[in-house]
Amino acid sequence: MLKVNAINVSYGKVEIIKQVSFEVNQGEVVVIIGANGAGKTTIMKTVTGLLKPTQGEIMFEGQTISRTPAEKIVKLGLAMCPEGRQVFPQHTVYENLVLGGYLIRKDKQMFLKNIEQMYSLFPILKERSKQFAGTLSGGEQQMLAIARAMMSNPKLLLLDEPSAGLAPIYVKGIFDMIRKLSEQGTTILLVEQMANMALKIANRAYVLETGRIALGGTAEEIMNDPKVVESYLGAK
Ligand code: ATP
Repeated sequence: MLKVNAINVSYGKVEIIKQVSFEVNQGEVVVIIGANGAGKTTIMKTVTGLLKPTQGEIMFEGQTISRTPAEKIVKLGLAMCPEGRQVFPQHTVYENLVLGGYLIRKDKQMFLKNIEQMYSLFPILKERSKQFAGTLSGGEQQMLAIARAMMSNPKLLLLDEPSAGLAPIYVKGIFDMIRKLSEQGTTILLVEQMANMALKIANRAYVLETGRIALGGTAEEIMNDPKVVESYLGAK
């Protein structure tokens, strides 16, 4: 579904991403794990078209998207939930979901179906539908941010550090949510520092170290790799 082939990405003259290749197949959950500053967000921004690679190619469903503007990439079915649960705090939960569904706004039936689906998957959002998003807990806001991204029926959902800044009790809830979305048929690419939890729900994983892919394999292989255990799973 998504194929990233030997991309380099720079900020000005500083090359951050070097010869990175990875792929996500239909139905998979793939995680890229990496420490702070390894370049995870930069990769997500490049896949969604906010940054352009200086070298290499990105293919989505057989089509090159390396030079495609971000708004067109969204329309191809690639939705991103950015780091830091950027919900609209002064809008209600329902209004946030409406904004997430702008691509399908003309199809009233689909729109209502998607809202109902999000409410049934995540009942807390239904309970809080009339509340301002800013009044939700951190975990609930993250849940809303993911549900909002799901409103446009993405074929591939990109999640940038969904656990960032959340208390441990909410982190489990978020990973349960990601697992549910996957079971419902959404293909998911996520980047995470929380390697432990992410590897438990992933099919395959890559390890990103200072802008390069150091390792790739099934989630089980990566989980049992002695180097990964030492560097990323210490607190297991
Ligand atoms: P984190 O876990 O902190 O979000 P990350 O793995 O997502 O880290 P990136 O945000 O992709 O890492 O950053 C990778 C590197 O690129 C870092 O060294 C960072 O300082 C640098 N960087 C990020 N954004 C910019 C920018 N706009 N201009 C210059 N350098 C940047």
